[in-house]
Amino acid sequence: MLFEHPPGESAHGNGNGRCSAEATGSSQVISAGFRLRPAQVTWEMTRECKWKAVSSRPAKRNARERAQVSTAEAFHLIEDIAAMRVPLLALTGGDPLCRSDLFPVIEFASRRSVRTSLTLLPTPKLDGTVIADLKEIGLMRVGLWLHGSTAELHDARRGIRGRYRRTLEIIESCHEVQLPVHINTIVERRNLQDIDPMFELLTRLDVAAWNVFFFVPSSPEERAETLSAEETEQVFAKLYQGSGRVHFQMKTTEGQHYHRYLLQQRARETKTRFLDMEAVRCAPKGVNDSRGSVFVDYKGEVYPSRFLPVSAGNVTHHALSELYSESPLFTSLRDVSRLKGKCGRCPVRTICGGSRARAYAVTGDLFAAEPSCGYEPGS
Ligand code: SF4
Repeated sequence: MLFEHPPGESAHGNGNGRCSAEATGSSQVISAGFRLRPAQVTWEMTRECKWKAVSSRPAKRNARERAQVSTAEAFHLIEDIAAMRVPLLALTGGDPLCRSDLFPVIEFASRRSVRTSLTLLPTPKLDGTVIADLKEIGLMRVGLWLHGSTAELHDARRGIRGRYRRTLEIIESCHEVQLPVHINTIVERRNLQDIDPMFELLTRLDVAAWNVFFFVPSSPEERAETLSAEETEQVFAKLYQGSGRVHFQMKTTEGQHYHRYLLQQRARETKTRFLDMEAVRCAPKGVNDSRGSVFVDYKGEVYPSRFLPVSAGNVTHHALSELYSESPLFTSLRDVSRLKGKCGRCPVRTICGGSRARAYAVTGDLFAAEPSCGYEPGS
C-alpha cells in the first residue's frame, strides 16, 4: 500500500522509545545530488471548478487558463520531482478533472516512477469509469473531502446538497477497482465534536488514511472558526484515543503540535519523563511548512504550505528543487532559532515548531508562537 505520508506523520511511530530506522526518518530528507528534498509536493493543478459555490472566486475562465501552469511546464516540474525522488506528488484543485491534460500528467509521472495521489470533487462528471481509467494509468490513491460524519454536517460546509452521498458513492467505485482512498477533513469549531463519529464512519468505509487538517483562517472574519488551544488539546485526545482502535493511517496537517502531544502520552504510558532527551532525539520529526512539505499553486508559485500565502518564487522561472533547498523563505522557516515566544523556548521545537501558517494568519509574523498550542515550556 502506498504510504502517502513520511514516517514523521504517523500517529504512533516510535512507540518503543528506541531509535529505529522509521523513528529517525526525517521530513528533511537528503538525497544524492540535492541538499534537501520534500517528503511531499502538493500541486494545485487548477482553480477551475464547474460546481458553483465550490469556489468563491469569480469565474474568469480564459484569464485563469492562460495563467495556469502549462502541460510542458507541468512535465518539467515532474522531471524535477522525479530527480529529487520525492516520495509523493499530491495533485489537487479546484477540480483537477477540469484540466484536459490530467491523464497525460499522471501517465507522465507514472512513467518516471513518481507516485501520485489525486484529490477529486464528487461532481457529476466523476464516475466509476473515470476512477477505473485513473487506476489504469497508474494513479496510486484518490483523496476526497469529508467534513463531517453526516450529510447535514458535510453538505453544510459548501452549501451543496447531495455532496456527502456522492462522496460515499465515489469511495465505493474506488473500492471496486482497488484504488485506495484517503479522506481529508478540516476540523474547526462547527465539527469539533464529530471526531469519534468520523472514526466510526471511516472504519465502515474502509479507507486507507485520514488526513486531519486543523483550520487556518484566511481572513479576520474566519478566526471565529479557529480552535483555541484548549479545544485543540481536546481534539488531540480524541485523535489519540481513536487512532489506537482503527486500521487506517492518520496524520495531521497544520497540527504540528500533535507530535508534542504524542511524546507526552508516550512518556505517561511508559512512566518516563516527557523531556527525556533520548526520546526527543529519536522522535519522528513532524512535517512542517517548508520542512518536508511544499505547495505549488495553479500559477506555479511555490509556498511552504497551501495555507501560508508567502511565495518563494515560481516554478516557471526556477526549479522547485532550488526554491525548496535554497530560497531565503524556505531556509529561514527551517531555522528553529528564529522561532519566537514559547515556540522559541520550547524543548521540542525541532520536532514540532508549531504551524507557521496559523502563526502568520493570526499575527502576521512567520515566526510567532503557535496560537493554538496549550503547552507552556517549563511547565
Ligand atoms: S510551544 Fe510551539 S514548538 Fe512547543 S509544542 Fe507548542 S507549538 Fe510546538
